[in-house]
Amino acid sequence: MSTTNYDIIIAGSGPAGTACALALKGSGLRVLVLDKNTFPRDKVCGDAIPNTVPKALRMLDENYLQALRSFPKKVVIDSCKVVAPSGKNVTLHFKLEGYASARIDFDAFMVNLATKESGATFIADCGVKDVSPQGEGLVVRTDDGKTFNTKLVIGCDGAHSIVNKKLTGTKIDHRHYIGAVRAYYKNVSGTAPNTMEIHLVKGFMPGYFWIFPLTDNTFNIGYGMVSEAISRKQVNLRKSILQIIHENEAIKKRFENAVPLEDPIGYGLPTGSRKVTISGEHFMLAGDAASLIDPATGEGIGNAMISGILAGRHALKCFQENNFSANFMRGYDDAIHQKFWSEMRNKYIMQRMVGDKSWLADFAIGLAADVPWIKNKLQKLF
Ligand SMILES: Cc1cc2nc3c(=O)[nH]c(=O)nc-3n(C[C@H](O)[C@H](O)[C@H](O)COP(=O)(O)OP(=O)(O)OC[C@H]3O[C@@H](n4cnc5c(N)ncnc54)[C@H](O)[C@@H]3O)c2cc1C
Repeated sequence: MSTTNYDIIIAGSGPAGTACALALKGSGLRVLVLDKNTFPRDKVCGDAIPNTVPKALRMLDENYLQALRSFPKKVVIDSCKVVAPSGKNVTLHFKLEGYASARIDFDAFMVNLATKESGATFIADCGVKDVSPQGEGLVVRTDDGKTFNTKLVIGCDGAHSIVNKKLTGTKIDHRHYIGAVRAYYKNVSGTAPNTMEIHLVKGFMPGYFWIFPLTDNTFNIGYGMVSEAISRKQVNLRKSILQIIHENEAIKKRFENAVPLEDPIGYGLPTGSRKVTISGEHFMLAGDAASLIDPATGEGIGNAMISGILAGRHALKCFQENNFSANFMRGYDDAIHQKFWSEMRNKYIMQRMVGDKSWLADFAIGLAADVPWIKNKLQKLF
Protein backbone atom coordinates (compact mmCIF):
# COMPACT_ATOMS: atom_id res chain seq x y z
CA MET A 1 0.00 0.00 0.00
CA SER A 2 1.54 3.34 -1.02
CA THR A 3 1.68 6.24 1.45
CA THR A 4 1.58 9.88 0.37
CA ASN A 5 2.94 12.82 2.35
CA TYR A 6 1.12 16.13 2.86
CA ASP A 7 2.04 19.03 5.13
CA ILE A 8 -1.55 19.45 6.30
CA ILE A 9 -4.59 17.21 6.07
CA ILE A 10 -8.01 18.78 6.60
CA ALA A 11 -10.68 16.20 7.42
CA GLY A 12 -14.04 17.43 6.13
CA SER A 13 -14.94 20.03 3.51
CA GLY A 14 -18.00 21.62 5.14
CA PRO A 15 -17.93 25.31 6.14
CA ALA A 16 -15.02 24.80 8.61
CA GLY A 17 -12.85 22.74 6.22
CA THR A 18 -13.37 24.94 3.17
CA ALA A 19 -12.70 28.16 5.12
CA CYS A 20 -9.58 26.55 6.58
CA ALA A 21 -8.31 25.55 3.12
CA LEU A 22 -8.94 29.11 1.86
CA ALA A 23 -7.04 30.54 4.85
CA LEU A 24 -4.03 28.47 3.74
CA LYS A 25 -4.09 29.86 0.19
CA GLY A 26 -0.65 30.99 -0.97
CA SER A 27 1.15 29.31 1.95
CA GLY A 28 3.17 27.05 -0.34
CA LEU A 29 2.19 24.11 1.88
CA ARG A 30 0.89 20.84 0.48
CA VAL A 31 -2.68 20.73 1.76
CA LEU A 32 -5.07 17.79 1.29
CA VAL A 33 -8.81 18.03 2.04
CA LEU A 34 -10.67 14.75 2.46
CA ASP A 35 -14.45 14.42 2.67
CA LYS A 36 -16.44 11.25 3.08
CA ASN A 37 -19.20 12.66 0.84
CA THR A 38 -19.39 13.84 -2.75
CA PHE A 39 -20.70 17.38 -3.30
CA PRO A 40 -23.37 18.65 -3.65
CA ARG A 41 -24.47 16.86 -0.48
CA ASP A 42 -27.22 17.60 2.04
CA LYS A 43 -26.47 18.52 5.67
CA VAL A 44 -29.32 18.57 8.20
CA CYS A 45 -29.52 22.22 9.22
CA GLY A 46 -31.89 25.18 9.55
CA ASP A 47 -30.11 26.73 6.52
CA ALA A 48 -29.92 30.18 8.15
CA ILE A 49 -26.64 31.71 6.98
CA PRO A 50 -25.86 34.10 9.85
CA ASN A 51 -24.01 37.40 9.61
CA THR A 52 -20.85 35.65 10.82
CA VAL A 53 -20.62 33.97 7.38
CA PRO A 54 -20.20 37.23 5.42
CA LYS A 55 -17.78 38.29 8.20
CA ALA A 56 -15.72 35.11 7.72
CA LEU A 57 -15.68 35.50 3.92
CA ARG A 58 -14.51 39.10 4.33
CA MET A 59 -11.72 37.91 6.69
CA LEU A 60 -10.54 35.69 3.81
CA ASP A 61 -11.04 37.95 0.80
CA GLU A 62 -13.59 40.66 -0.06
CA ASN A 63 -14.07 38.93 -3.46
CA TYR A 64 -15.39 35.79 -1.75
CA LEU A 65 -18.09 37.87 -0.07
CA GLN A 66 -18.96 39.37 -3.45
CA ALA A 67 -19.21 35.82 -4.83
CA LEU A 68 -21.74 34.96 -2.08
CA ARG A 69 -23.69 38.15 -2.84
CA SER A 70 -23.95 37.06 -6.49
CA PHE A 71 -24.81 33.45 -5.61
CA PRO A 72 -28.42 32.97 -6.78
CA LYS A 73 -29.50 30.06 -4.54
CA LYS A 74 -30.17 32.08 -1.41
CA VAL A 75 -32.64 34.58 0.04
CA VAL A 76 -31.74 37.69 1.99
CA ILE A 77 -32.84 37.57 5.63
CA ASP A 78 -33.26 40.93 7.32
CA SER A 79 -35.74 40.14 10.12
CA CYS A 80 -36.65 37.52 12.65
CA LYS A 81 -40.15 37.20 14.08
CA VAL A 82 -40.04 35.72 17.58
CA VAL A 83 -43.38 34.34 18.76
CA ALA A 84 -44.07 33.79 22.49
CA PRO A 85 -46.11 30.83 23.79
CA SER A 86 -48.98 33.32 24.32
CA GLY A 87 -48.90 34.24 20.62
CA LYS A 88 -47.56 37.73 21.29
CA ASN A 89 -44.65 38.44 18.96
CA VAL A 90 -41.87 40.84 18.14
CA THR A 91 -40.04 41.26 14.83
CA LEU A 92 -36.34 41.97 15.20
CA HIS A 93 -34.62 43.75 12.32
CA PHE A 94 -30.99 42.93 11.56
CA LYS A 95 -28.49 45.59 10.56
CA LEU A 96 -25.92 43.03 9.44
CA GLU A 97 -26.04 40.97 6.27
CA GLY A 98 -27.52 37.46 6.58
CA TYR A 99 -29.09 34.90 4.26
CA ALA A 100 -30.87 31.56 4.08
CA SER A 101 -29.61 28.94 1.66
CA ALA A 102 -30.20 25.19 1.58
CA ARG A 103 -26.97 23.54 2.70
CA ILE A 104 -26.92 21.34 -0.38
CA ASP A 105 -26.38 24.60 -2.32
CA PHE A 106 -24.35 26.69 0.15
CA ASP A 107 -21.81 23.94 0.93
CA ALA A 108 -21.35 23.19 -2.79
CA PHE A 109 -20.74 26.94 -3.28
CA MET A 110 -18.02 26.82 -0.59
CA VAL A 111 -16.42 23.65 -2.00
CA ASN A 112 -16.36 25.12 -5.53
CA LEU A 113 -14.82 28.34 -4.21
CA ALA A 114 -12.19 26.51 -2.14
CA THR A 115 -11.34 24.04 -4.92
CA LYS A 116 -10.83 26.91 -7.37
CA GLU A 117 -9.07 29.35 -5.04
CA SER A 118 -7.19 27.58 -2.25
CA GLY A 119 -4.60 25.52 -4.13
CA ALA A 120 -5.39 22.53 -1.88
CA THR A 121 -6.06 19.06 -3.26
CA PHE A 122 -9.66 17.93 -2.63
CA ILE A 123 -10.64 14.26 -2.56
CA ALA A 124 -14.36 13.52 -2.20
CA ASP A 125 -15.97 10.22 -1.25
CA CYS A 126 -12.93 9.47 0.93
CA GLY A 127 -13.75 9.27 4.64
CA VAL A 128 -11.09 9.40 7.35
CA LYS A 129 -11.24 6.13 9.27
CA ASP A 130 -8.31 6.52 11.62
CA VAL A 131 -5.73 9.09 12.75
CA SER A 132 -2.80 8.07 14.91
CA PRO A 133 0.65 9.33 15.90
CA GLN A 134 3.54 8.12 13.77
CA GLY A 135 7.14 9.36 13.82
CA GLU A 136 7.26 13.17 13.61
CA GLY A 137 3.57 13.54 12.80
CA LEU A 138 0.34 11.64 12.22
CA VAL A 139 -0.83 8.95 9.87
CA VAL A 140 -4.32 9.20 8.37
CA ARG A 141 -6.08 6.10 7.09
CA THR A 142 -9.20 6.33 4.93
CA ASP A 143 -12.25 4.10 4.42
CA ASP A 144 -11.03 3.09 0.96
CA GLY A 145 -7.62 1.96 2.24
CA LYS A 146 -5.48 5.03 1.44
CA THR A 147 -2.73 6.08 3.86
CA PHE A 148 -1.31 9.60 4.22
CA ASN A 149 1.49 10.92 6.42
CA THR A 150 1.26 14.48 7.64
CA LYS A 151 2.68 16.99 10.09
CA LEU A 152 -0.71 18.42 10.98
CA VAL A 153 -4.33 17.27 10.91
CA ILE A 154 -7.15 19.82 11.16
CA GLY A 155 -10.36 18.01 12.12
CA CYS A 156 -13.28 19.78 10.42
CA ASP A 157 -15.34 16.62 10.21
CA GLY A 158 -18.45 17.79 12.02
CA ALA A 159 -20.44 16.81 15.09
CA HIS A 160 -19.48 13.13 14.87
CA SER A 161 -15.80 13.90 14.22
CA ILE A 162 -13.53 10.89 13.84
CA VAL A 163 -10.47 13.10 14.42
CA ASN A 164 -11.97 14.25 17.74
CA LYS A 165 -12.86 10.70 18.71
CA LYS A 166 -9.42 9.28 17.91
CA LEU A 167 -7.28 12.11 19.31
CA THR A 168 -9.21 13.59 22.26
CA GLY A 169 -11.84 11.06 23.27
CA THR A 170 -14.14 13.94 24.41
CA LYS A 171 -17.55 12.54 25.30
CA ILE A 172 -20.93 14.18 24.64
CA ASP A 173 -22.31 16.14 27.60
CA HIS A 174 -26.09 16.34 27.18
CA ARG A 175 -26.27 19.73 28.90
CA HIS A 176 -24.06 21.10 26.12
CA TYR A 177 -25.63 19.32 23.16
CA ILE A 178 -28.83 20.01 21.22
CA GLY A 179 -30.88 17.54 19.23
CA ALA A 180 -32.90 18.93 16.31
CA VAL A 181 -34.96 17.82 13.33
CA ARG A 182 -35.63 19.46 10.02
CA ALA A 183 -38.10 18.91 7.15
CA TYR A 184 -38.51 20.86 3.90
CA TYR A 185 -42.05 22.02 3.02
CA LYS A 186 -43.54 23.93 0.10
CA ASN A 187 -46.37 26.51 0.32
CA VAL A 188 -46.40 27.44 4.00
CA SER A 189 -48.75 30.43 4.27
CA GLY A 190 -48.63 33.60 6.35
CA THR A 191 -44.91 34.18 6.01
CA ALA A 192 -43.40 37.64 5.56
CA PRO A 193 -40.68 38.17 2.94
CA ASN A 194 -37.04 38.00 4.12
CA THR A 195 -38.18 37.01 7.61
CA MET A 196 -37.25 33.95 9.63
CA GLU A 197 -39.62 32.83 12.39
CA ILE A 198 -38.86 31.36 15.79
CA HIS A 199 -41.80 30.04 17.83
CA LEU A 200 -41.63 29.13 21.50
CA VAL A 201 -44.55 26.74 21.72
CA LYS A 202 -46.33 25.97 25.00
CA GLY A 203 -45.87 22.31 25.93
CA PHE A 204 -42.86 22.04 23.61
CA MET A 205 -40.32 24.03 25.63
CA PRO A 206 -37.40 24.21 26.24
CA GLY A 207 -36.44 24.49 22.61
CA TYR A 208 -37.99 26.19 19.64
CA PHE A 209 -39.84 25.55 16.41
CA TRP A 210 -38.65 27.41 13.31
CA ILE A 211 -39.87 28.43 9.86
CA PHE A 212 -37.05 29.69 7.63
CA PRO A 213 -37.80 30.78 4.03
CA LEU A 214 -35.73 29.49 1.12
CA THR A 215 -35.96 29.98 -2.65
CA ASP A 216 -38.83 28.52 -4.78
CA ASN A 217 -41.53 28.85 -2.08
CA THR A 218 -39.70 26.21 -0.04
CA PHE A 219 -39.33 26.44 3.74
CA ASN A 220 -36.99 24.83 6.20
CA ILE A 221 -39.16 23.75 9.14
CA GLY A 222 -37.46 22.54 12.29
CA TYR A 223 -37.61 21.90 15.99
CA GLY A 224 -34.77 21.47 18.47
CA MET A 225 -34.14 21.08 22.17
CA VAL A 226 -31.22 20.60 24.59
CA SER A 227 -30.42 16.86 24.74
CA GLU A 228 -30.58 16.76 28.53
CA ALA A 229 -34.24 17.89 28.34
CA ILE A 230 -34.95 15.44 25.50
CA SER A 231 -33.86 12.54 27.75
CA ARG A 232 -35.47 13.94 30.92
CA LYS A 233 -38.83 14.55 29.22
CA GLN A 234 -38.56 11.52 26.89
CA VAL A 235 -39.24 13.75 23.87
CA ASN A 236 -39.52 12.28 20.40
CA LEU A 237 -38.50 15.22 18.20
CA ARG A 238 -39.87 13.70 14.98
CA LYS A 239 -43.30 13.20 16.55
CA SER A 240 -43.22 16.58 18.31
CA ILE A 241 -42.54 18.60 15.16
CA LEU A 242 -45.48 16.92 13.40
CA GLN A 243 -47.68 17.56 16.45
CA ILE A 244 -46.79 21.25 16.35
CA ILE A 245 -47.52 21.42 12.61
CA HIS A 246 -50.82 19.53 12.76
CA GLU A 247 -52.22 20.34 16.22
CA ASN A 248 -51.08 23.80 17.33
CA GLU A 249 -54.03 26.15 16.68
CA ALA A 250 -51.99 29.06 15.28
CA ILE A 251 -49.51 27.01 13.28
CA LYS A 252 -51.74 24.31 11.76
CA LYS A 253 -53.74 26.87 9.71
CA ARG A 254 -50.53 27.89 7.99
CA PHE A 255 -49.80 24.31 6.93
CA GLU A 256 -53.27 23.55 5.49
CA ASN A 257 -52.01 23.78 1.90
CA ALA A 258 -48.38 23.00 2.67
CA VAL A 259 -46.67 20.02 1.06
CA PRO A 260 -43.95 18.13 2.94
CA LEU A 261 -40.98 17.25 0.75
CA GLU A 262 -39.54 14.73 3.22
CA ASP A 263 -40.03 13.20 6.66
CA PRO A 264 -38.25 15.03 9.51
CA ILE A 265 -34.52 14.18 9.74
CA GLY A 266 -32.44 14.72 12.87
CA TYR A 267 -28.83 15.54 13.75
CA GLY A 268 -26.82 16.74 16.76
CA LEU A 269 -25.49 20.20 17.64
CA PRO A 270 -22.47 20.29 20.01
CA THR A 271 -22.66 23.71 21.65
CA GLY A 272 -19.81 25.99 22.66
CA SER A 273 -21.02 26.37 26.21
CA ARG A 274 -18.26 24.24 27.73
CA LYS A 275 -14.55 24.25 27.07
CA VAL A 276 -13.42 21.00 25.44
CA THR A 277 -10.06 19.87 24.08
CA ILE A 278 -9.68 21.43 20.63
CA SER A 279 -6.00 20.85 19.97
CA GLY A 280 -3.01 18.72 20.88
CA GLU A 281 0.26 17.48 19.42
CA HIS A 282 0.02 17.75 15.60
CA PHE A 283 -3.72 18.52 15.50
CA MET A 284 -6.47 21.13 15.84
CA LEU A 285 -10.25 20.85 15.64
CA ALA A 286 -12.60 23.42 14.08
CA GLY A 287 -16.35 23.91 13.66
CA ASP A 288 -18.72 21.32 15.12
CA ALA A 289 -15.75 19.01 15.75
CA ALA A 290 -14.61 21.67 18.26
CA SER A 291 -18.16 22.15 19.70
CA LEU A 292 -18.68 25.76 18.63
CA ILE A 293 -22.43 26.07 18.07
CA ASP A 294 -24.29 28.98 19.66
CA PRO A 295 -26.25 27.45 22.60
CA ALA A 296 -29.17 29.89 22.30
CA THR A 297 -29.76 30.09 18.54
CA GLY A 298 -28.19 26.83 17.28
CA GLU A 299 -26.17 28.75 14.69
CA GLY A 300 -22.82 27.19 13.87
CA ILE A 301 -21.98 27.81 10.19
CA GLY A 302 -20.25 31.16 10.72
CA ASN A 303 -18.45 29.95 13.85
CA ALA A 304 -17.27 26.89 11.90
CA MET A 305 -15.84 29.14 9.19
CA ILE A 306 -14.19 31.57 11.62
CA SER A 307 -12.63 28.71 13.61
CA GLY A 308 -11.45 27.11 10.34
CA ILE A 309 -9.75 30.38 9.44
CA LEU A 310 -8.14 30.68 12.90
CA ALA A 311 -6.91 27.07 12.63
CA GLY A 312 -5.45 27.81 9.18
CA ARG A 313 -3.68 30.90 10.53
CA HIS A 314 -2.27 28.99 13.48
CA ALA A 315 -1.14 26.21 11.13
CA LEU A 316 1.00 28.78 9.28
CA LYS A 317 2.66 29.71 12.60
CA CYS A 318 3.35 26.02 13.32
CA PHE A 319 5.23 25.69 10.02
CA GLN A 320 7.07 29.01 10.47
CA GLU A 321 8.29 27.92 13.94
CA ASN A 322 8.45 24.22 13.05
CA ASN A 323 6.58 23.60 16.28
CA PHE A 324 3.66 21.15 16.43
CA SER A 325 3.70 20.51 20.18
CA ALA A 326 0.54 20.46 22.30
CA ASN A 327 1.93 23.47 24.14
CA PHE A 328 2.33 25.53 20.95
CA MET A 329 -1.18 24.55 19.80
CA ARG A 330 -2.60 26.33 22.86
CA GLY A 331 -2.16 29.55 20.87
CA TYR A 332 -5.08 28.28 18.77
CA ASP A 333 -7.18 27.51 21.87
CA ASP A 334 -6.51 31.05 23.12
CA ALA A 335 -7.62 32.58 19.81
CA ILE A 336 -10.84 30.52 19.87
CA HIS A 337 -11.64 31.31 23.49
CA GLN A 338 -10.98 34.98 22.98
CA LYS A 339 -13.28 35.03 19.97
CA PHE A 340 -16.18 32.95 21.27
CA TRP A 341 -16.11 32.21 24.97
CA SER A 342 -17.82 35.18 26.62
CA GLU A 343 -20.68 35.24 24.10
CA MET A 344 -21.17 31.48 24.42
CA ARG A 345 -21.34 31.74 28.22
CA ASN A 346 -23.92 34.54 28.07
CA LYS A 347 -26.06 32.70 25.53
CA TYR A 348 -25.87 29.55 27.65
CA ILE A 349 -27.03 31.44 30.75
CA MET A 350 -29.92 32.82 28.70
CA GLN A 351 -30.82 29.36 27.35
CA ARG A 352 -30.83 27.86 30.89
CA MET A 353 -32.71 30.80 32.38
CA VAL A 354 -35.64 30.56 29.95
CA GLY A 355 -35.66 26.74 29.96
CA ASP A 356 -39.27 25.55 29.84
CA LYS A 357 -40.69 28.61 31.66
CA SER A 358 -43.32 29.71 29.16
CA TRP A 359 -44.40 32.56 31.49
CA LEU A 360 -40.86 33.99 31.32
CA ALA A 361 -40.79 33.71 27.52
CA ASP A 362 -44.20 35.45 27.39
CA PHE A 363 -42.96 38.19 29.71
CA ALA A 364 -39.61 38.76 27.91
CA ILE A 365 -41.04 38.71 24.36
CA GLY A 366 -43.98 40.88 25.49
CA LEU A 367 -41.52 43.37 26.95
CA ALA A 368 -39.44 43.40 23.74
CA ALA A 369 -42.63 43.94 21.71
CA ASP A 370 -43.70 46.90 23.88
CA VAL A 371 -40.44 48.57 24.95
CA PRO A 372 -38.27 49.82 22.06
CA TRP A 373 -34.94 49.86 23.93
CA ILE A 374 -35.35 46.21 24.98
CA LYS A 375 -36.14 45.30 21.39
CA ASN A 376 -32.99 47.18 20.39
CA LYS A 377 -30.89 45.21 22.89
CA LEU A 378 -32.26 41.92 21.55
CA GLN A 379 -31.58 42.98 17.96
CA LYS A 380 -27.96 43.62 18.88
CA LEU A 381 -27.64 40.27 20.69
CA PHE A 382 -28.79 38.31 17.62
C1 LIG B 1 -31.04 20.55 12.77
C2 LIG B 1 -29.92 21.56 12.73
C3 LIG B 1 -30.20 22.88 12.43
C4 LIG B 1 -29.16 23.81 12.34
N1 LIG B 1 -29.46 25.09 11.93
C5 LIG B 1 -28.46 25.98 11.73
C6 LIG B 1 -28.74 27.25 11.13
O1 LIG B 1 -29.87 27.54 10.74
N2 LIG B 1 -27.70 28.11 10.99
C7 LIG B 1 -26.44 27.81 11.38
O2 LIG B 1 -25.54 28.65 11.28
N3 LIG B 1 -26.15 26.59 11.92
C8 LIG B 1 -27.12 25.65 12.07
N4 LIG B 1 -26.81 24.39 12.53
C9 LIG B 1 -25.42 24.07 12.85
C10 LIG B 1 -24.60 23.86 11.56
O3 LIG B 1 -25.25 22.90 10.75
C11 LIG B 1 -23.18 23.41 11.90
O4 LIG B 1 -22.68 24.19 12.95
C12 LIG B 1 -22.24 23.51 10.69
O5 LIG B 1 -22.65 22.64 9.67
C13 LIG B 1 -20.82 23.17 11.13
O6 LIG B 1 -19.96 23.12 10.01
P1 LIG B 1 -18.71 22.11 10.03
O7 LIG B 1 -17.96 22.40 8.79
O8 LIG B 1 -18.03 22.16 11.32
O9 LIG B 1 -19.38 20.66 9.95
P2 LIG B 1 -20.29 20.02 8.82
O10 LIG B 1 -21.11 21.04 8.14
O11 LIG B 1 -20.99 18.89 9.47
O12 LIG B 1 -19.25 19.46 7.76
C14 LIG B 1 -18.43 18.36 8.11
C15 LIG B 1 -17.94 17.72 6.83
O13 LIG B 1 -17.08 16.63 7.19
C16 LIG B 1 -17.39 15.49 6.43
N5 LIG B 1 -17.01 14.33 7.23
C17 LIG B 1 -17.65 13.80 8.31
N6 LIG B 1 -16.98 12.74 8.78
C18 LIG B 1 -15.88 12.60 7.98
C19 LIG B 1 -14.81 11.69 7.95
N7 LIG B 1 -14.71 10.70 8.82
N8 LIG B 1 -13.88 11.85 7.01
C20 LIG B 1 -13.95 12.86 6.09
N9 LIG B 1 -14.97 13.74 6.07
C21 LIG B 1 -15.91 13.62 7.01
C22 LIG B 1 -18.88 15.60 6.15
O14 LIG B 1 -19.22 14.89 4.98
C23 LIG B 1 -19.07 17.10 6.01
O15 LIG B 1 -18.94 17.51 4.66
C24 LIG B 1 -27.82 23.42 12.61
C25 LIG B 1 -27.54 22.10 12.92
C26 LIG B 1 -28.57 21.16 12.97
C27 LIG B 1 -28.24 19.73 13.27
